[in-house]
Amino acid sequence: MSQRTVEKVVIAGGGTAGWMAAAALSRLVGRKISVTLVESEEIGTVGVGEATIPTILTINRLLQIPEPDFIKLTSGTFKLGIRFENWRKQGEDYIHSFGDTGKGSWAAGFHHFWLRAKEMGLAEDYGEYCTELKAAEAERFAITSQNKLNYAYHLDASKYGMYLRKLAESSGAKRIEGKIQRVETSLEDGFIEALHLEDGQRIDGDLFIDCTGDGFLRI
Ligand SMILES: Cc1cc2nc3c(=O)[nH]c(=O)nc-3n(C[C@H](O)[C@H](O)[C@H](O)COP(=O)(O)OP(=O)(O)OC[C@H]3O[C@@H](n4cnc5c(N)ncnc54)[C@H](O)[C@@H]3O)c2cc1C
Repeated sequence: MSQRTVEKVVIAGGGTAGWMAAAALSRLVGRKISVTLVESEEIGTVGVGEATIPTILTINRLLQIPEPDFIKLTSGTFKLGIRFENWRKQGEDYIHSFGDTGKGSWAAGFHHFWLRAKEMGLAEDYGEYCTELKAAEAERFAITSQNKLNYAYHLDASKYGMYLRKLAESSGAKRIEGKIQRVETSLEDGFIEALHLEDGQRIDGDLFIDCTGDGFLRI
């Protein structure tokens, strides 16, 4: 296996995935590597209203994105869970909340206590012990210093992509407009060597990240 040092990273595709990768690499790894992203305006992005899960807070924290800016720039809103409508039967909804249910102890997880209490006729519905679920049902939400609710966002993916692009470019990532036509691989080890664009440009790199959505770099 090749032991080359990675100095040039090439990202194929500039939707949310591509610009997220570009922003993370250029901001977190810094100028030790060059980051080049190739995307095609003609092909475009999916860019819909995106429902996220709480892990998005981790990437935003790593990228040091201030939450008020993020909400404003992505036309975002907060969510405490995902509602599955007509889940088991018509008219029955189920909210998968992002919260923890109950409080365990060193001896056992909360569900053990709940099952025992249920046998004894003492327990409420399992969801009654989840703050996020109760808040979602009551359509209430707030972020305060005492309030540690688990949450995620619903956002406009195109706007998030544009915001990430700004972050990535301000940290040194370079964008190339064009359609990838062909992938060049090494005869020696089969690894990708370069991308060839329709306009004749050849973009070489040490590491290629496929964010084209349809796995363009699959060879
Ligand atoms: C209606 C709908 C609702 C959805 N809802 C959710 C949701 O709630 N939550 C969720 O997580 N996901 C959701 N998804 C899925 C999610 O939107 C997509 O998976 C995500 O936006 C894809 O982002 P991406 O960056 O991977 O790809 P894309 O946005 O497709 O970006 C691909 C990029 O690759 C470039 N590209 C492709 N081929 C080439 C080429 N040959 N040369 C150069 N560039 C190329 C394009 O120009 C573009 O920049 C939904 C999708 C749809 C359609």
